[in-house]
Amino acid sequence: MFENTDRTELSSLGEFGLIKHLTQFIKIKNKSTVKGVGDDAAVIDFKGKQTVVSTDMLVEGVHFDLIYVPLKHLGYKSVAVNVSDICAMNATAKQITVSIAMSNRFSLEAIEELYQGIYLACNEFKVDLVGGDTTTSPTGLVISITAIGEAEPDELVYRDGAKEGDLLCITGDLGGAYIGLQLLEREKKIFLESPGVTPDLEGNDYLLERQLKPEARNDIKPLLKALEVKPTAMIDISDGVASEILHICTESKVGCSLYEEKIPIDPLTYKVAREFNLDPTVCALSGGEDYELLFTIDPADYPKVKANPNITVIGHMTNAKEGTHLITKGGSQTPLKAQGWDALLNK
Ligand code: ADP
Ligand code: MG
Repeated sequence: MFENTDRTELSSLGEFGLIKHLTQFIKIKNKSTVKGVGDDAAVIDFKGKQTVVSTDMLVEGVHFDLIYVPLKHLGYKSVAVNVSDICAMNATAKQITVSIAMSNRFSLEAIEELYQGIYLACNEFKVDLVGGDTTTSPTGLVISITAIGEAEPDELVYRDGAKEGDLLCITGDLGGAYIGLQLLEREKKIFLESPGVTPDLEGNDYLLERQLKPEARNDIKPLLKALEVKPTAMIDISDGVASEILHICTESKVGCSLYEEKIPIDPLTYKVAREFNLDPTVCALSGGEDYELLFTIDPADYPKVKANPNITVIGHMTNAKEGTHLITKGGSQTPLKAQGWDALLNK
């Protein structure tokens, strides 16, 4: 792809040169993309389907730290988190736009790295890069991505459809991304104190990948379709499952009982959480950034999902009057809280 190696100043290309350079490798994959980069606007035709749009902005120093986040991973993750929002509507992502603001601290080669990650994610999630905007910023890097998807009107799933008695389901496992972040933060601290020391991240690839290179669950819409299950409500897990469950409960006007013993936690997440003196359950509930899907289904659909390795039932929805609860392994009932980051770190 990009073949530059030394440091090339962005100013040597100019804005239009840079845009041309970054977008030269685009190959349109989707029929719905009528016109991509190169005009005043992209043209998209979903032919009678409904269009789903979602935007996320990532700001250096707030959402990512370039000390330990490689730019290629950052590019991949920025696309993945947007595609994840489209998946959470039970829609299929088809196009993205990418807007960047960067200072002259960044070289052309650095921005190429970012775009390599973006291209990789576009291939993985089968979306077309159809536009964006390029501008300068006084210091850091800002990336804003918009994802566009399509769905048949009767396929779309909102947050407000959960009913009393519905089962609460989750894809994949939880807490890994948060523990990955703890590992990276620990190594950053050691690095800043004694720069000569090489980072000790061996054997923790799964956790680092969960944090640095999360995948959008674009496999779940086709899976549910094949199983003939339509969720009653759905949301993606960006902030921590406890907070996402509460969103569904509020929007759907129901309560819930979540069972601690049912929460899927990878053995490595469990082990490393313990090494950090963190409670694995709290990490899973409040850690965030796992980008799995949380959804509710009619209990009649239980036989269709029960043997599926991608899906775990973690609880059920109750009458709103009963409130929102976590049933601990010991059998006691505690209110489900959307814990903030501080509470998590000071535990
Ligand atoms: P305008 O002046 O109309 O905003 P630009 O010169 O900014 O147009 O952009 C020219 C074309 O390049 C448009 O199709 C735009 O969507 C696309 N584009 C601009 N910046 C980027 C970027 N960072 N990544 C991908 N496409 C981009
Ligand atoms: Mg522009």
